[in-house]
Amino acid sequence: MLTFEQLSGQQDSHLIEAEAGHKLQKAVATAFSAMREAAASDGVGVDLLSCFRSFERQMRIWNEKWHGLRPILDDRHQPLDPQLLSDKEKLFAILRFSALPGTSRHHWGSDFDVFDAKAVHACDQPFQLISEEYQPHGPCFELSTWLSHHADAFGFYRPYTGAAGSVAPEPWHLSHRATAEPLIAQMTSERLGPLLEKTDLAGKDTVLLHLDEIIRRYVRF
Ligand SMILES: [Zn+2]
Repeated sequence: MLTFEQLSGQQDSHLIEAEAGHKLQKAVATAFSAMREAAASDGVGVDLLSCFRSFERQMRIWNEKWHGLRPILDDRHQPLDPQLLSDKEKLFAILRFSALPGTSRHHWGSDFDVFDAKAVHACDQPFQLISEEYQPHGPCFELSTWLSHHADAFGFYRPYTGAAGSVAPEPWHLSHRATAEPLIAQMTSERLGPLLEKTDLAGKDTVLLHLDEIIRRYVRF
């Protein structure tokens, strides 16, 4: 059970430092260490890329996308022209790749992104964190295959499979099921709406208008 401040990324008092710069809940960090050790003994690197992200950080990403300071990509990783989108279209285009601040699973300390640092650094292409890098011929394919076979044994699963009308596939994103599942139902528009009202969230009016749908499609899927 988390407080609303923890659930929404405003506080990180539920977390420990799993590694320098990477915060997770203690049980999640322990399960991750065991999984990483097992992968290493199979010759596969599982390295943390991104763990806890605060509400503030998520809002910076969101606002930059909304204001056109960061690209909004389509499913083929091509930038969309924000001028050609209505606010509602822009909202759902951003949600395909970025969570609404307050609803990111990265707030919870149960979820994190992984890559194979050694394989990525050995590769001469810049790393973009896209699905192709986790597919055959990509630097993280071996890691991804290993996770498909073994992550479950350590209590982890991939919540973002790319189902229609939801978040794009994220083969790098792992969730500790026992920690994350009880949290899903705790986020409601009744709790999140008043928080968002008080912030400088870009596109706030459009977000609030669609908040129930956002939580249904992108949190409680
Ligand atoms: Zn992630």
